[in-house]
Parts: sequence; C-alpha cells; structure tokens
Amino acid sequence: MFVPVNEPDLSGNEKKYLQECIDTGWISSEGPFVERFEQGMADLCKRRHAISVANGSVALDLAMQALELELGSEVIMPTFTIISCASAIVRAGCIPVLVDSDPLTWNMDVSQIESKISSKTSAIMVVHIYGLPVDMRPILNLAKKYGLKVIEDAAEAIGQTYYGEPCGSFGDISCFSFYPNKHITTGEGGMVLCNDDKLSERCRSLRNLCFLPARRFMHERLGYNFRMSNLQAAVGMAQLERLEETINKKRDIGRKYQGLFASVSNLQLPIEKTSYAENIYWVFGLILKDCLHVDADDFAQRLKALGVATRPFFWPMHEQPVFLNQKLFEKENHPVSEAISRKGFYLPSGVGITEDQIVYATSEVKKVLMVIQ
Ligand SMILES: *Cc1c(COP(=O)(O)O)cnc(C)c1O
Repeated sequence: MFVPVNEPDLSGNEKKYLQECIDTGWISSEGPFVERFEQGMADLCKRRHAISVANGSVALDLAMQALELELGSEVIMPTFTIISCASAIVRAGCIPVLVDSDPLTWNMDVSQIESKISSKTSAIMVVHIYGLPVDMRPILNLAKKYGLKVIEDAAEAIGQTYYGEPCGSFGDISCFSFYPNKHITTGEGGMVLCNDDKLSERCRSLRNLCFLPARRFMHERLGYNFRMSNLQAAVGMAQLERLEETINKKRDIGRKYQGLFASVSNLQLPIEKTSYAENIYWVFGLILKDCLHVDADDFAQRLKALGVATRPFFWPMHEQPVFLNQKLFEKENHPVSEAISRKGFYLPSGVGITEDQIVYATSEVKKVLMVIQ
C-alpha cells in the first residue's frame, strides 16, 4: 500500500461550476464566482470585506502592505510557522520579533508576547497552527492596551472557531490559504478579510496593480497582480458548500488516529481540545519523545520505505539561513520550537484519506517504533 500525505476531495459541485466557467467563457478574475466566493468567505467569518488573491503567501504580503505600518517597526510573530509570515513582514519594511511555541498546542506561547513589546512594536501576527486556534483573548487585550494591529493567519483554521467565534474574524486583517491541503482548496488561492472600509479598498487596489479608479493605466502607487481567477473561485464555492462536512471528516480522521495511538507511550499526539476549541486537525502531527533516539527525518525515511508519506514540521524562523544572512535573529534560542521541529512530523491526513489508509499508516508507525526502541 502507498498512502499519500494529502488527497483532496473534489467530488461536489467543483466539476459543474468549472464547466459553467468554460461554457460562459468567464475564466479570468472578472467572472461571477469570484464575488460569490468572497461574499461566502466574508459571511463565514462575519467580516464586512473579503478580498480573494492568488495564494495564501501573497494574502499575507497584501495584508502587511495594506496596513502601512511604520517602516522599521516591529511585528511580533511565532518562530514556528511557514516562512510566508516572516517574509511578508520583512518585505513590508518591518522587523519580525519571534516568540517560541507552547509545547502542547504548538501555537505561539502567548505568555511570552508582552515581554517582547517595545516602543517600536506596531503589530502582532497570530498564526493558528495545525488546526488548533491560538488563545486570542489575551492577545486582543494586549493589542488594545498597547495600540497594536493584529494580523491573523487562519490558513490552517478555515471553519474553526474560538469560543464559538470564527477564526479569521479576529485580526484587524485576517488571511487564508486555499492550497490543496487546506480545509477549502482552490488549487492555489488565498483570501484577505477585514471590516475596515479603507483597509479593504487599499487591499483591492494593491491586488490589482493600483489602477486609478478615475483613469485605468494610471498609477500613484506600485501594486501587484494578486488576483484570483473565476476558475479557482468556482472550485472554492463548491468547497465552501461542503465545509462543515469537511471539518467533520477531518475531526473523524483525527479521532481515529487518536484512538489507534492511544496505547503508544513514546509519541506526543496533538491536543484534542482546549477550553476554547476542538481540534480540526489541519494535519495530524506526531512528536517523537526524547527517549526515542531518532529524529523526525530518520523516522520519516523509514515510513516512506513502508509506503507512508509524511511531511516534516515547520523549521523555526530563527534557524533560517535566509534570515541569519540578513543578520536577523542572531544568537536567538527558542528551545521548544527547536525541539518540535526536529522531532515532529505529520501523517497522511488529507480529507480524501480512507479508513484502511489510516489503519495502515498507524500500523507502520508502530512497526518503526518497535524497530528503533
Ligand atoms: C499554507 C499556509 C500559508 C501559505 O499559503 P500558500 O497558499 O501555500 O501560499 C500561509 N500560512 C499558513 C499558516 C499556512 O499554513
């Protein structure tokens, strides 16, 4: 058997809506699905504005550019995340300031944030990691107390809630990705959400080359082409219709893995729930406990040979050559993120996975554990 790390489920109206695009000829960003998908995401997240873009990374770039934070100001963010978060901050002329991870939730350690706030801090970038939300209340309180903006990266938490309120509703500006392993996919795609009318206007303008409304092909500012196509939005609409089903499926996958690993003592499993949320398992992560003297790469190699594909955890920002070469994060240590990035990986957990594949992947993990113990 071979179990791929992610298989999407495109079995709803995806084909029908794509056919509609082809039949009508609306394939660019001007087609009707784009607005429908934006409205659908705005409704899901109870936001006034949703601006679709080409992918989640440029959603973060757009958010940072549109906020117009002071050049050279500091933005606090987790060290354990995808590089897109840090690169968006750097490209906007700001300085990322890193916070270590919580060892159990793998989210940013909220208790460390206040000590990182300085007179130069302008914003906090929050990233919900692997399907469990960050504890937002203390962060929103800090933002209020110190007058900071909040950028929320909810790419791994589409359809997730925090105390019943949707993820993607908390930032001054919030971002999603619709990559094929996300809870909604458009192949490639992303979204920026906010309530502020001016901020939304800036996003729309920057997304579309900053054409002057009064005169196309005249520009007062340099923008980008970050537009999402009608083809992508058509797939997104079909996916959005089935989001609840997808979330239920992902929770089922998580619960099955939890059950099958319950008796295994040398693995740290994801947290099933906190006081504010139940995990939606963007991925099912595992951490090899210290008593196992192999790292995640070694373990993944062995699983691959048995037909089980995995992916490593994120690699911390303060250990990225690209930033160290820029003299960022020199001599910083964030021990939790360093440990989980070396000992953590995730199992096949895409929405298309079958029960047999879950059982097989689990049995092969147990087999490898027997060999190395
Ligand atoms: C997937 C992801 C992104 C980037 O999205 P792309 O669409 O792949 O560019 C950004 N942030 C987080 C937390 C993600 O998981």
